[in-house]
Amino acid sequence: KSVDPHTLVIFGASGDLAQRKLIPAVFDLYRGGYLPEKFALLGASRTNMTDEEFRDKVVFNNEHFDRKDCTDEQVAAYAEVLFYQDLASYDGEKDINNLGKRLKKLDKDHGVGSNYIFYLSTPPSLYSTIPPALAKAGLNQTKDGWSRLIVEKPFGYDLATAKQLNEDIQRYFEEDTIYRIDHYLGKETVQNLLVTRFANGFFEPLWNRNYIQSVQITAAETVGVGTRGGYYDGSGALRDMVQNHLLQVLAHVAMEPPIRADAKSIRGEKLKLFQSLRSIKRADVRNHVIRAQYTEGRTKGGDVVSYRDAEGVPEKSNTETYVGMKFFIDNWRWAGVPFFVRTGKCLPLKLTEVVITFKNPPQAIFSEFDNYAMSSDNRLIIRIQPDEGMALEFGMKVPGEGFRVKNVDMDFFYRDLTSNDVPDAYTRLLLDCMKGDPTLYARGDSVEAAWDFVEPILQAWKANEVPLFSYPAGTWGPLQSDALWSGVGDGWRNPSTSLTEKKH
Ligand code: NAP
Repeated sequence: KSVDPHTLVIFGASGDLAQRKLIPAVFDLYRGGYLPEKFALLGASRTNMTDEEFRDKVVFNNEHFDRKDCTDEQVAAYAEVLFYQDLASYDGEKDINNLGKRLKKLDKDHGVGSNYIFYLSTPPSLYSTIPPALAKAGLNQTKDGWSRLIVEKPFGYDLATAKQLNEDIQRYFEEDTIYRIDHYLGKETVQNLLVTRFANGFFEPLWNRNYIQSVQITAAETVGVGTRGGYYDGSGALRDMVQNHLLQVLAHVAMEPPIRADAKSIRGEKLKLFQSLRSIKRADVRNHVIRAQYTEGRTKGGDVVSYRDAEGVPEKSNTETYVGMKFFIDNWRWAGVPFFVRTGKCLPLKLTEVVITFKNPPQAIFSEFDNYAMSSDNRLIIRIQPDEGMALEFGMKVPGEGFRVKNVDMDFFYRDLTSNDVPDAYTRLLLDCMKGDPTLYARGDSVEAAWDFVEPILQAWKANEVPLFSYPAGTWGPLQSDALWSGVGDGWRNPSTSLTEKKH
């Protein structure tokens, strides 16, 4: 599908996200030849800047703007399509009318037409107030073009605020013009989960309760909250990682096969999956979900002060920097299979991976042979980042007498498939929005269903009904998290930096 001429308006263009991700991502599209010939990017925020000052800030003096493999001419030509409009406020009638006038002028001067993408890269408090202001100025539905809205995370703070946000936005934009961005969905390896499952004949017959013993998803970060403690403390690991990114990864791992690879079919299956998550009752939260905070310790980056001592974090904060959880999916495919999800800050490694553990063969006939490994290590490890790839672990005979079994790996790394860097998630997602394809964006009903699942956990935590554990920075989280596996016969995988190496 080709991309229509259009203008991409970034609200909050003076901010961190625009500088670090959005402006460089659009440049990738520009030099890759993906942008239409008639295109403009209009930054909009309250900081006073001219077009030139904006170009200096986000292109020429932007340390995140990668000039590797491109010429100065390319960079200069890209800067020419960037413009800036300052606003006294983001939702003032006069401001948005001025923005509308500027859009008309860009069309007059550069022939970019009246198709618009409005990217909300502002604090979330403005997500509900910008759409009505756009509507008042007639920019949400233009007569002779289209208008799309990209909304950054967070999509609400809990179920009630997520519903309210959906309602506030859907009043002015049709659902199929709302693009809720979840950058995990822009990751090649997350999309590849669908290809692995649905483009291969041999995974699908095994992908169910008959052959799979457990599924675990880990998203580990080595960094702490740094100087963003004030922001993080209002969110925590469950809201920041699980409700959105990790449940999206889970949906790709566990959803039923969609009838087609289009937005309606894929997003429909995801919703069904979220609706099949067995609700964790508030009284049961303590048995299914472990929350913890890091204390003083040492990570790869050096010594770390405890979370409560970090800048901007209240002394008695109960915000979790680690979550480990166990839950079930109540449908035919997954009945009885435990799913485990964990995420945390200040862990020993930075990585995101999915581990599918297959059931043992029905009889361990080689167990008498002084084995290096029992036959239980049949695992598929899908590394989402870094070292994107996969490994399949299975037992092989050790050469020589008897039948000694040793675990070996077959692995695949994305970097072997292509010499190009894997495209940045924002680059891919922005292009999809420009093409009008919302497949890799979160739909409003799914977002609410995901909040619905985490809501009892948030409530139990808020009421302090369950303990808040701790773990020293640089370790794999609190010991109590291991107990979630009791009776399952496996455990959290202890990954190393290499995809295939199993233990430290
Ligand atoms: P940011 O730098 O804090 O804010 C973006 C811009 O919004 C600022 O440059 C500022 O521009 C304006 N702004 C800040 N505080 C404001 C206030 N109280 N009232 C009105 N305007 C204000 O945010 P960001 O890091 O770019 O992130 C933008 C959005 O994306 C946030 O909602 C964030 O949650 C989300 N997000 C960010 C990241 C990331 O990596 N940064 C990742 C995922 C999601 P002016 O003062 O010039 O108006």
